[in-house]
Amino acid sequence: PIILAIESSCDETSASVCADGAILSNVIANQTIHEAYGGVVPELASRVHQQNIVPAVQQALLNAKVSKNDIDAVAFTRGPGLLGSLLVGVSFAKAFALARKLPLIEVNHMQAHILAHFIADVKPQFPFLCLTVSGGHTQIVLVKDYFDMEVIGQTLDDAAGEAMDKTSKILGLPYPGGPLIDKNARNGNPDAYKFPEPQIPGFDFSFSGLKTSILYFIRDNVAKNPEFIEQNMADICASVEKRIATILLNKLKAAATQYGIKDIALAGGVSANTGLREGLTALGKQQGWNVFIPKFEYCTDNAAMIAIAGYHKFLKNDFVDQSVAPLARMPM
Ligand code: ATP
Ligand code: MG
Ligand code: FE
Repeated sequence: PIILAIESSCDETSASVCADGAILSNVIANQTIHEAYGGVVPELASRVHQQNIVPAVQQALLNAKVSKNDIDAVAFTRGPGLLGSLLVGVSFAKAFALARKLPLIEVNHMQAHILAHFIADVKPQFPFLCLTVSGGHTQIVLVKDYFDMEVIGQTLDDAAGEAMDKTSKILGLPYPGGPLIDKNARNGNPDAYKFPEPQIPGFDFSFSGLKTSILYFIRDNVAKNPEFIEQNMADICASVEKRIATILLNKLKAAATQYGIKDIALAGGVSANTGLREGLTALGKQQGWNVFIPKFEYCTDNAAMIAIAGYHKFLKNDFVDQSVAPLARMPM
């Protein structure tokens, strides 16, 4: 089947076309309007989705060299995400499907981040563990099958991406800060400063304490030296990045040991992070894991991951009808 997929859960408007599980196009319209606000402004995000969705779909069809008549089904992100953002994509998908009498496929955005691994030629084997780290989520997921996933650990407060973004805000960098922390960290010493590792039982995470300790660390040092941030930007970013990565990887290692699983995957926007990718690769070598890290374009929000998830639902005849509505919260 040829599937058109739509993603609009946060601040990326994305459309993708896939044919029998092969991605033919993946168009991502990023929203720059939020940079000045230090975070995504939901009302503005919805409006920009509304402007971008038709051009994004047209471009996705064009890049895939596919016409509207060739589409066999429409897949869309039902949730979780910002309701106003989701509404744009869900409404578009429903209208497109209604007009062309096509089946509709709902996709869970967090499952899709994980299923992005099935785009690549080399795929993880079930059951595998996936560390999903994004702007809104931090989870260790036991993936038993395409749509049979169990969250065995998650954050009790902030997500890893939020920790990156809030740190960058403290450092005076624009939103989203994760990529800028990454960029600065490449020139810094990751052992320059030590930040605490939270002591949380099981496979759960917490990042709010880390955020507070970074805030106080910066405040105290800037009080002594107003140039502290500018003079030490690379070392600060490298040290924060290393601490976030080690918090994540220590829990992942414990989970892999307890479950006796050696296929280990990484997903979500923070999986674009260089320090985390390198850390996981090194840990995997040491532990004898098969490590799966997505290509950069499939780490942050994209419709290709919705398309591949949609394809596997299509194979199971798992469709929804026109009464479907978006869900801001949507369990796995
Ligand atoms: P969710 O998927 O939980 O609904 P989201 O869709 O907003 O949230 P993603 O688009 O998957 O999240 O990821 C965005 C997050 O990834 C942001 O917090 C961003 O700062 C972070 N991020 C992106 N690239 C990097 C990088 N190279 N290093 C660190 N963080 C990064
Ligand atoms: Mg985003
Ligand atoms: Fe996401």
